[in-house]
Amino acid sequence: MTTHADSDRLRLIRTKVEANQRLSFEDGLYLHNHADLFTLGELANIVRERKNGNVTYYNVNEHLNPTNVCVYRCSFCAFRSDLKGPRAYVMSDEQILERAREATERGCTELHVVGGLHHQKPYEWYLNIIRIIHENFPRLHLKGYTAVEWDWFHRLTGRPTRDILAEFKSVGLGSLPGGGAEIFHPDVRSKICEYKASADDWLRIHQEAHELGLRSNATMLYGHIESPEHRVDHLIRLRELQDRTGGFQTFIPLAFHPDNTRLNHIQKPSGMTDLRVMALSRLMLDNFDHVKAYWIMLGIQTAQVAQSYGADDLDGTVVHEKIYHDAGSDSPQEMTVAEIRRLIEEAGRVPMERDTLYHEVVRGEGPNQWQIGRKLQLATI
Ligand code: SF4
Repeated sequence: MTTHADSDRLRLIRTKVEANQRLSFEDGLYLHNHADLFTLGELANIVRERKNGNVTYYNVNEHLNPTNVCVYRCSFCAFRSDLKGPRAYVMSDEQILERAREATERGCTELHVVGGLHHQKPYEWYLNIIRIIHENFPRLHLKGYTAVEWDWFHRLTGRPTRDILAEFKSVGLGSLPGGGAEIFHPDVRSKICEYKASADDWLRIHQEAHELGLRSNATMLYGHIESPEHRVDHLIRLRELQDRTGGFQTFIPLAFHPDNTRLNHIQKPSGMTDLRVMALSRLMLDNFDHVKAYWIMLGIQTAQVAQSYGADDLDGTVVHEKIYHDAGSDSPQEMTVAEIRRLIEEAGRVPMERDTLYHEVVRGEGPNQWQIGRKLQLATI
């Protein structure tokens, strides 16, 4: 039952949102636990339209997961394999270049490169992946390796992650994806991914990347063992780093998929939870330009509706996605540009293709005929 105190509290939060004022931890928790979904969506849409007008972005990209062999055993992961597991694979240089060629021929502007931490592969193997793709296909923007992988490269070499990031940048790395953040709070992190990079490591590595001029994204894996407090805490930690560097581009809430994981007793989050987390993220991350509805994880229908709950980006055409399909995602492996544009237009938004760094992409006749246009400025589009 809604009480007077409740409606006073919500009125106060609405006033803050309308005045473009920052919401506190307590505001976030109140919204998460007490606001009805329509009100949350309405408030998130105020921020979404203030920042991005009526536009929804998409990009034309492919994924490359060079190996699924991983030393870690995160309890939510269905992608990893032991070295001698029946599903284990490691792509050769030829296969990697073939994937990059395919992406180029399909008109992709971006290749998203992440994978397992293969303990028998030296540092140079990971570096060489970026180098050979960039040398052969220099127009492809390479968004590569999560903070967990950068931390692994540090463990392999003993070198500071800042130096490693700088070396990768010098051979063609363009930006960092946002994976590996999971849930920052140690009460959760110590249970679901005990060994991999800590929250402080994750945040420090992104700070170093930003200081080197590399933009990055950020994620939050929700819908497993975390509480609302952990979600709000996670968002505020990201907001604090963004205040210092301004280097994050996009936040992507990732819905947990339990199939084939050690947490398969947990139900995957409902569509209502997906929309609640999307809207809450948009409201709390007042210094992030973009919030993405990653259709691979949300499913196409929820991603479409999420455009009214704070999301202004639907990610891309994706192709060859393995990580979430191994965990039971039943969304298709790829969407055509025509399908993405239809999903956006049907939601009453204006589709706009972007490159990784949010420049307009101007297309010619053939898939390969594209040019990078103007930088897309917030609220001037
Ligand atoms: S989530 Fe990443 S680090 Fe964890 S087990 Fe899976 S592949 Fe390895």
